[in-house]
This record gives sequence, structure tokens and C-alpha cells, in this order.
Amino acid sequence: MPRRALTVVRTKTDAAETNMFDKVLIANRGEIACRIIRTARRLGIAAVGVYSQADRNALHVALADEAWPIGPAPARDSYLNIDAVIDAAQASGAQAVHPGYGFLSENPEFAEACEQAGLVFIGPPATAIRAMGSKAAAKTLMERAGVPVVPGYHGSDQDLDHLAEEARRIGFPVLIKASAGGGGRGMRIVGAASQFAGALASAQREAASAFGDDRVLLEKYLERPRHVEVQVFADRHGSTLHIFDRDCSIQRRHQKVIEEAPAPGLDPECRRAMGKAAVAAARAIGYVGAGTVEFIVPSGSSDTFYFIEMNTRLQVEHAVTEVITGLDLVEWQLRAATGEKLPLGQHELRIHGHAIEARLYAEDPERDFLPQTGTLHRLHLPLPDIARVDTGVREGDSVTPFYDPMIAKIIVWGDDRAAAVARLRRALAESAVLGLRTNLSFLGRVVADREFRAGTVDTGFIDRRHETLFGGSRAAPNEAVAAAALHRLSVREAGAAASATDSVDPFSPWARSNGWRLGDRAGQTVVFRCGNKDAAVSAIARDYEWLLEFRGRQAIAALRQQSDGLCQLTLDGVKRFMRVLDHGTEHGTETVVFIDSEGWTFEEIDPLMPPAAEDPSAGKLTAPMPGRVTRLLVEPGSKVRRGEPLIVVEAMKMEHTIAAPTDGVVAAVRFRVGELVEEGTELIALAAPVTDPK
Ligand code: ADP
Repeated sequence: MPRRALTVVRTKTDAAETNMFDKVLIANRGEIACRIIRTARRLGIAAVGVYSQADRNALHVALADEAWPIGPAPARDSYLNIDAVIDAAQASGAQAVHPGYGFLSENPEFAEACEQAGLVFIGPPATAIRAMGSKAAAKTLMERAGVPVVPGYHGSDQDLDHLAEEARRIGFPVLIKASAGGGGRGMRIVGAASQFAGALASAQREAASAFGDDRVLLEKYLERPRHVEVQVFADRHGSTLHIFDRDCSIQRRHQKVIEEAPAPGLDPECRRAMGKAAVAAARAIGYVGAGTVEFIVPSGSSDTFYFIEMNTRLQVEHAVTEVITGLDLVEWQLRAATGEKLPLGQHELRIHGHAIEARLYAEDPERDFLPQTGTLHRLHLPLPDIARVDTGVREGDSVTPFYDPMIAKIIVWGDDRAAAVARLRRALAESAVLGLRTNLSFLGRVVADREFRAGTVDTGFIDRRHETLFGGSRAAPNEAVAAAALHRLSVREAGAAASATDSVDPFSPWARSNGWRLGDRAGQTVVFRCGNKDAAVSAIARDYEWLLEFRGRQAIAALRQQSDGLCQLTLDGVKRFMRVLDHGTEHGTETVVFIDSEGWTFEEIDPLMPPAAEDPSAGKLTAPMPGRVTRLLVEPGSKVRRGEPLIVVEAMKMEHTIAAPTDGVVAAVRFRVGELVEEGTELIALAAPVTDPK
């Protein structure tokens, strides 16, 4: 994708000719810190990093020109600690602070604190952040500016009866949103009046814990709208423009996972009107710098759109806009912050081709996309000839519970959407992660889906295509079984060769343990556990290939191994590339075979072991991840029905409700409200239901 790489940037000036900063502090971590460092370096600006104790060895720290410690791992003690960040900026001699996204990027007190400390905040004025900081206030403001908003209630009366009455007026389904919200937290869909009070209480609790503010607003819940947003940019000289739109409709838990630009199939009139509305929104609050105005487009509509919120910062998905325009938005932010005029005018901006971004997350799609933590034992991401990869981690790094579990953004470009989709499929097929669960296979299935390929995307896509997108334990194909077996055999052979070299007579056949037998071509057997199934593969060596027998069939196979786990498998004459990687676990070695972004894990087992059991964690009432108990809904002796909520754990600022897997009686409650729980610890013991003796 070199044509659209970040280095292709249209600028009118060089850093040396302007009053560009010499040194900028980046008050962030992960991929966005690395991304900003890249542009700073290209412009000759020294980049100062900051890091928490958990990030001592993080990639952004390694890339920064200098990096300052700002406190312990929890974000509130480090990346959200305004004093610590300002102290680091002043001590390092930075002139400006780039907040990235998340953390302090939309905190008006931080913008003001920068100003007071004589530092330039690379973002809009604190007044603009404040104006958009509350979703409710922003909607009022937008209504006044003539921008259409979703029908609902965004007033200040937060009384339950009043809100319930407003919800009835709006008409169910209704969406409750945290006014101070973000990241989908504190958001609840309510289908009927009877569920309103419960959903409101839960939304308020989540909002209070995530934002320290439990105020909510109500909106008509639109079924399957599209999320279309407009990138805006403004300088201090009165120029405000939009840099086209992005579609971010592929969402889980109301959060984006695949984004593209331009929005496919958008009516040109609607596109123009949206651009105009976005510029009006930015102008209404005296905006400066990069911002995004988000809209939803009702299902089936080609000309209606509603404002939902404005993000007063750079977005995660800014990369797709960069790729279709050849602009570097971080450079524009830096220039706008020094007081320069925008390098281009609205009529000089052009769209070239189509770009798509897929967010690779440490999360388990099969468990409602639950974030995962762990070590990235192996990490293969696509090379620059096929995709732009923005990441903040390397092989060997850990995804911790402290921060966002995104591993990388994989961004592709094509002449048109179909070309970009094809490229993304390829880019995902070249990726592999070992050590924790990711959404890689899920992304691969989304991109291969016929609806996605047709471009008829909306926010209901993932639910609607559930059957094709969630594989559960898809049976491993024969190619994967054969490749795993041949790989294990080659590891055995290498081990045998090594022990022969160590023996007194390295050439003695007796020193070998690879199944060699005098006067016979002995077979070897590899027994695997893959998912809940065991598979035995018998193999007899021939000259340069193996005769395999598995799943009741025979096949001639060979595996040519290249670097980085890349292999070419020949199975009955058909050749195919795949990646085969080993991964040491506490139980032994696992072999993972990746074919077209799907991965299958094979654990070599002792054939005398008992047969594969069901998932041992199934039915157990354990903590899904480290967190804190926020609600306890039962006590010992409570009779519960299958599906009934028992206990609520808050982890990564989200509430996880643990429900009864079967009917039963609570035998023991292991934790109290407020207590911390480790991942996998049993929370509640459930006994079989007491049968009525009658
Ligand atoms: P957050 O700031 O928490 O991410 P947003 O207001 O940006 O919340 O909404 C996130 C997503 O939720 C949107 O992209 C959209 O998919 C969905 N959404 C928001 N408002 C509505 C609505 N009124 N009806 C249907 N879906 C909505």
C-alpha cells in the first residue's frame, strides 16, 4: 500500500520554516502514542513519552526520545493524573502536550491546566471541550445550531418518575445513555416500560462509577441505523472544513470494530448535508483542531441523519481518512496548535479510493467480546506492502487489565471498496497471535461475509449475521490437522537428532528416538486434543513425505517450513500456505495452525489420558476477569432459575452479570460487595434444585 502510506503527505511548509514546536509531550500510551511519535519524528520534533509502572517496557517508551514515569499502573494514578503529566511536561522542557484519544483528551480541566502551566494543549479550547463534554448539553446546542438530533429527552430533571414518563412519551424501545458517557458505558436499551426502572438504576450505577456522574439522557432507540461520522478540522483563522465521512457501523457492544472511508453507498446529497452540519457544529462552539461529529442514519433512509455526539479529539479511526486523502492529521493538529493556517481549503481536498480499518483486540467474541489479558507470545502482523499497521505492542508484551485491550489497527487501501475488502482479507490472513484470545478469526469472518462485501452495513450487522460470524468450536479442516501433525513430527525428529548428537555414538540408530526400527518403516502416532475433540494421526515416513492416516482416510503429505512459522503444506498434491506456531503452556506445548485468519489449537496429549471433557469452566460461576463485586442478588439458600442474575462484577469499567447456568439452590456465596476477585475464582456455588418430596 505504499501509495497511501503515511509518508505521502501534502504540506506547504516545513517545520524549519515555521514556529513549529521543538519538543512535544504525548500524554498517552499504546498505538496512538507511537503514531504521534512517528509524525513528530518526521517533522523533527522531539517526542517525550510518559509511562505508568505497568508500561515501563512498552513500545511507546522505547520509541520516544525521552520518557518520564508518571505513577502506578491504574490509569487514574498515572495517565489520568493531571499534576503528574503537567510536571513531566515541565520537567522535560516540552512546549506542548498532545493528549491522543481517551485518557485526558476530552478533559477541559486538563486543557486549562496545560495553558496555566504555559504549555500548548494540542486540541480545541477548553470551552469547546466543555460544550461537547455532556451529551445532553451538546444536543441542546446542536438543536439551536439547526443540526438534527435523535428524538429524546436531554433535560436536567433526573427523577425516576419523570424519566419514566419521558420514556413513555418517546416510545419504546428507548436508549438510556450516560450524559457524560463514552465507550458505550452506561448505555442500556429498554424494550418495555416494565424494564425501565431496573435498566435506569444499572445505567446510573455504571455511569457514576465510570465518569463520576450518574446523569442520563433518553433517546429513541433506532433499529439498525448506520453510524456515519464526519472528520472536521479548524484553525484559529476562521477556517473550518470537513475531511469527508467514515462509516463505523460494524460495532459490538455499541463500540466500533471495523471502520471505513468513505461511507459506502451514501447518497451524495446526504453526504453534502452531513458535511455542512458537521462544520456548523464545529463553528457553533468555536472549534480549533481535529474533531469528529457523529451521526446515525436511520435504517433504509437516504436523506435523514441525526447528530449523536461530537468527539473533540483525534479518533481511533482517523487513519482511514488519512489513507484516502494522503494527509497526516497529526501533522495538521500540530500545525493548527502553533497557530498556522490549515494547509488546504475545502475545495482542495479529494478522496482517493477506499480505506478500511479492522481493530484487532484481545477479546473473546464467543463470550460477548470479553476483554482478555495475557502475554503476546507470538505476534505476526501484515507487512507494509499490504497494510498500514498501527500498534503499540510487540511480541512478548502483555495486554494488562489496566488499559484498552486493542492490539493493533490493520488499515488497508484499494482503488475501490471491493479491492480494499480483498486486501483486508489478505492482511488478516497474514496475521497471527498466540498467547491470548483475540477477535482475529471473527474479523476474518466479517470481512468474508457476503453482506459486508456488498457494503450494506448497519449497526445490527453482527447480531443479524450471528450464525456465520461466530464459529464456536469449528472443526479443524484436514489441512490443519495434517499440518499440526507434521509439525509435531518434525519437532520430535529435531529432538531426536539433538539427543543423538549428545550421545556417545551420534550415528548409532539406537541413540535415536524417532520411531526408527531395524528392517521396518515404523509408524508414529500423534494424538491431539483440538477444542473438545481428540484426533489421532498415524504417520509413516517415506522419502520426502509422509503417509498419514486420520479421520478414516489416508493421505500423502509434506510440510515445508519457512521462517516465522510460515509453511507450505502439500496434502495429496494440493499445496497451501499457512502458519504453524508452537506455544508453551503450563500443560505442555500447543501447536496453533492459522489458515486465512482462522486459528486452531492442537494440544498433543498422552493417548492414555481420559477423553476430552466439556469445557471445564462451563457452568461454573467464576469471575470472567479480575474485578470488584458491585452487587449481590442472592444469598445462601436462594432458589434460582436458569438465566437469573446472581452477582455483578465490575471489571475494566464494565458491569458483568453472572447468571445461573441451571436451575438450582445457592449453596455458598464466596464474596461480599466491594471485594476484589481474581479471574477464574469461584464466586457462587450452586447446588442441584431441591426436589419436592411429594
Ligand atoms: P459512546 O460515546 O458511549 O460511544 P454514542 O452516543 O457515540 O456512545 O453511541 C455509540 C453507538 O451506539 C453508536 O455508534 C450507535 O451504533 C449506537 N447508538 C447511539 N445512539 C443510538 C440510538 N439512538 N439508536 C440506536 N443506536 C444508537
